[in-house]
Amino acid sequence: MMALQTDRLLKRFGGFVATNEVSLNVAEGARHALIGPNGAGKTTLVNLLTGFLAPTSGTVTLRGQDISRLPQHRRVAQGLARTFQINRLFADLTVLQSVTLAVCERMGLAHRLWRPVGAHAEAIDTAALLLQRLRLLDVAHRRTRDLAYGRQRLIEIALALAVQPSVLLLDEPAAGVPSGESRELFETIAELPRSVTIMLIEHDMDLVFRFAERITVLVNGAILTEGEPAEIAADRQVKAVYLGEAARG
Ligand code: ADP
Ligand code: MG
Repeated sequence: MMALQTDRLLKRFGGFVATNEVSLNVAEGARHALIGPNGAGKTTLVNLLTGFLAPTSGTVTLRGQDISRLPQHRRVAQGLARTFQINRLFADLTVLQSVTLAVCERMGLAHRLWRPVGAHAEAIDTAALLLQRLRLLDVAHRRTRDLAYGRQRLIEIALALAVQPSVLLLDEPAAGVPSGESRELFETIAELPRSVTIMLIEHDMDLVFRFAERITVLVNGAILTEGEPAEIAADRQVKAVYLGEAARG
């Protein structure tokens, strides 16, 4: 079964077609990258997947279930997660508190967070495990807002993973992260367990080719081609698109 699929997904903004009949298959456990020049429609596609935008036509299927009409929070509950920037509430909490809060929310304990019952110990253990996975244990007791940008991105991924998603969507997780930190950020993402399918949008081709096992190239809202990294790297059409973009500056 595919982790995530779209079937002839289409999105119009007025007369402009931002997503053009996109049929995408993301396999279970995949390390799948979505690339394409600026304005290709990558973020629009993610917004259609998460339910932030409603499609004009076409469907989105998560592990065999049609989720096209579900609101965002229901899609998250079904196992489709994306990262959001840390909100102000979380910025004042420590890293461990933030992730524990997200775990509690998933366990239905959010409104009883500070009551000392066994379930909370379990939530803290789960949060600590997530911090370990994301190499954040050493900063568990620091406030999230005091951390370097790259590590804040890792907290956001930890928060997304707290809901135990089957699919994680990462839209340019290294955006704004200094290059010295982005390498570690990607190494950490690459080490996440295969039980989480990952679809990544990233414009840095070095990072894409290091991470992805499958790449879909989007141009003008439509899929230009899809394949393994070596195939994409050798594809003349893909090269032409990126050379064209470089020439335009
Ligand atoms: P990418 O993420 O690949 O850079 P986007 O998905 O952000 O591309 O944008 C794809 C195209 O859709 C762009 O031409 C953009 O201007 C257009 N677009 C995106 N969102 C809207 C919107 N809400 N209304 C109108 N046009 C939009
Ligand atoms: Mg974008």
